[in-house]
Amino acid sequence: MSLLVVGSVAFDALESPYGKVERTLGGAATYFAVAASFFTPVNLVGIVGDDFTKADAAIFRGRRVDTEGLERATGKTFFWAGRYSENLNERVTLATELNVFADFKPKLPEKYKRSKYVFLANIAPDLQHSVLKQVSARPKLAALDTMNYWIERNNADLRETLRHVDILMINDSETRELSSEHNLLRAAKHIFKMGPTTLVVKRGEYGAMMVDKKGVFCVPAFPLEEPHDPTGAGDSFAGGFMGYLAGVKSTTDAALRRAMVYGSVMGSFTVEKFGMDRLRNLKRPEIHARARHFSKLTQFKL
Ligand code: AMP
Repeated sequence: MSLLVVGSVAFDALESPYGKVERTLGGAATYFAVAASFFTPVNLVGIVGDDFTKADAAIFRGRRVDTEGLERATGKTFFWAGRYSENLNERVTLATELNVFADFKPKLPEKYKRSKYVFLANIAPDLQHSVLKQVSARPKLAALDTMNYWIERNNADLRETLRHVDILMINDSETRELSSEHNLLRAAKHIFKMGPTTLVVKRGEYGAMMVDKKGVFCVPAFPLEEPHDPTGAGDSFAGGFMGYLAGVKSTTDAALRRAMVYGSVMGSFTVEKFGMDRLRNLKRPEIHARARHFSKLTQFKL
């Protein structure tokens, strides 16, 4: 069952206490697509500039990522620069240059229109909406991610797009900003009034929490001795989560709970190295081994 994603494909400049890179491949849709492709085929919608080389595109080759929907335009690829604090929990955005995304009008290839699972990764909310509108039938599951940049600048568009999705998947500070509620359970109630029926809050080293009408489910983050760079951890989480659900073709409560674990597994790999370096060389048996490790990590008797 194929999974559609729209979002940024980017070059990033990253600084963390563990090092610095001037220009590396990134973007929310890139992390998402690579992570999800371990579980299911992925259809990618986005845009890159003429500075995006064959070597950059090689990240998608040999994986189940269809790039017919990745447009090439004259100009520069989206660029983002960020710096992380000592404990890696906070980051500041140093630059966001939309470049070719500024005039992007996504047009879905015919075969993408039948997608049953849709992920609107972090990008302008009107672009997310225009992709969702082109999907012919109501998808089985539509999820959306966003960030402070869009919450602050494109709030009305974001509210409109949110009315049409099932799951909102954002981090804790974005949850608080969007809902104007500090407490995450109260924030969830607020967000349900905006459209989504499920909220997944990504909480960095504190794991992730899923809230819906049935209740709350939490997973820890995988304890890592040497995390290096959290960039893309949220998108890799989303890739593991949505990829797992599309792969098993299910959205039951049990499947959603397992998806939370596969999301955490994929996010944990991404932070082990800078940029896409860890996902690039990841092998499927490592994913299953870490999922089993998660199961042990959270087992207890009463
Ligand atoms: P994450 O660490 O999961 O929040 O995602 C980081 C990725 O999001 C980076 O690779 C950036 O290229 C991308 N990104 C940063 N800011 C934006 C933005 N305003 N819109 C879309 N993508 C962004």
